[in-house]
Amino acid sequence: MRISAPGLAGLRGALAGTVIVPESAGYESARKPALARFHHIRPRAIVRCENADDVAETLAFARRWGVRAAPRSGGHCFAGRSSTEGIVIDVTPMHAVSVSGGMAAVGAGARLGDLYDALQQHDLTIPAGCGPTVGIAGLTLGGGLGLLGRKHGLTCDHLVAARVVLADGRVVDCDEHHHGELFWALRGAGGGHFGVVTSLVFSTLRAPAATRFHLTWPHSHAAAVIAAWQAWAPAAPDELNASLRVTAVGDADRPPVVHLFGAMLADQAEAVELIDQLVALAGAEPAWASHTHLPYRDLKRSLVGLGGDGEDAEPDWPGQVFSKSEFFRRPLPPEAITALLRHLPRGRGACQSRELNFTPLGGAYGRVPAAATAYVHRDERFLVEHVAVVDAEASTATRGAARQWVTQSRACVHPWASGRVYPNFPDPDLADWAQAYYGTNYERLVRAKRTYDPHNLFRFEQSL
Ligand SMILES: Cc1cc2nc3c(=O)[nH]c(=O)nc-3n(C[C@H](O)[C@H](O)[C@H](O)COP(=O)(O)OP(=O)(O)OC[C@H]3O[C@@H](n4cnc5c(N)ncnc54)[C@H](O)[C@@H]3O)c2cc1C
Repeated sequence: MRISAPGLAGLRGALAGTVIVPESAGYESARKPALARFHHIRPRAIVRCENADDVAETLAFARRWGVRAAPRSGGHCFAGRSSTEGIVIDVTPMHAVSVSGGMAAVGAGARLGDLYDALQQHDLTIPAGCGPTVGIAGLTLGGGLGLLGRKHGLTCDHLVAARVVLADGRVVDCDEHHHGELFWALRGAGGGHFGVVTSLVFSTLRAPAATRFHLTWPHSHAAAVIAAWQAWAPAAPDELNASLRVTAVGDADRPPVVHLFGAMLADQAEAVELIDQLVALAGAEPAWASHTHLPYRDLKRSLVGLGGDGEDAEPDWPGQVFSKSEFFRRPLPPEAITALLRHLPRGRGACQSRELNFTPLGGAYGRVPAAATAYVHRDERFLVEHVAVVDAEASTATRGAARQWVTQSRACVHPWASGRVYPNFPDPDLADWAQAYYGTNYERLVRAKRTYDPHNLFRFEQSL
């Protein structure tokens, strides 16, 4: 049904927050999510909700007019699920953080950078990702991988309660003892499926001092470093979080570079000793290496863009990003690594940059039973992500070339993957997405969906 102007005026009158429509000043910036790939989507309205009642009013409005409503926190969804031609429920006005008794109550609109700053004032933190403008809500609801994850687990493993506005407008507080199935589902499958989360409560950790490291190798050593990394990083002591990234930038004949970067929750000498093990395993001396002991907040900031621009300078993602990823439980054989590296330069000419990202798992990520939360991926050893970036204004052909590069890169290693995919890196091309994202937890999630959203108000491609 086409929403009428009086209808929208009625919604406006019922809210503490604001309703932004195509005719409003500020519509262009309000409608766009962080990822340029979804900047073409034009919502009928963006509702900036100040509180849970605003969310309930907006959901009632969406039901009445039969339009889709998509919750948005940080707007970083790789599948564009927080954008819609219906109504965007923007929770960013709810971004307050308060700390008491080791717990942090966090508005669902908070971004990671602001949250870390607020927690740092109490010398506290939570395990979560590095991107400072990523929303804490979207990240937590799909799991939450980060620098402290091998030692302390997923972000959602530290969630102790959440307030949710359900499809029928009820506002519920859930935790282990209240609406337990909803609380279970939110920890790994919560993004957009069950309701709109307005606040989250986390148990916090003392912010550790740690050693930040960054090493690089020329492309000629890439195969040896990848082979060594996949045996070493997922099995290393929990204190170590060492990611590997192979980057190919620009269309000139610049050879790709291999980066090892991350943090060790120990002093510099211990970090160097451990990283030397990788160097020995790879049999390849790095071209460049730095190890710096830092307060945790400074360390986090320095890793954004590999320490390039600094956190405050992070712009919206500069180009259109195409990516695919999978989990692995066993190492890639030499022929798969060779195929992957041979394919890396192939997108030259079409893509601004191509990247292979290897994220270590194991440690505390795997010490929670697969059925304890909706996040099922507890036995995975590492994650490989294939990323191509093209210009924000790229032609259809160029976007097609990027998509093809990513698809073919994934195909090089897919036979050795576990078949599981991180729910926070959604891939609209997945055929068996239910198994890939949720595995053995899928049936229970479907039952929770029937309980909490029986009329399927929250629906999108690959929704439960
Ligand atoms: C630059 C960048 C860096 C990243 N770094 C990491 C990282 O270090 N670790 C990691 O684990 N992941 C990382 N990710 C992936 C990230 O976790 C997901 O993209 C996540 O979904 C982003 O959350 P968001 O709130 O920013 O996004 P949004 O697009 O706002 O939301 C993502 C999904 O959650 C839903 N949602 C949003 N808010 C709510 C709410 N309040 N209630 C219910 N559903 C809601 C949306 O509808 C959508 O389906 C990164 C992504 C990017 C683009």
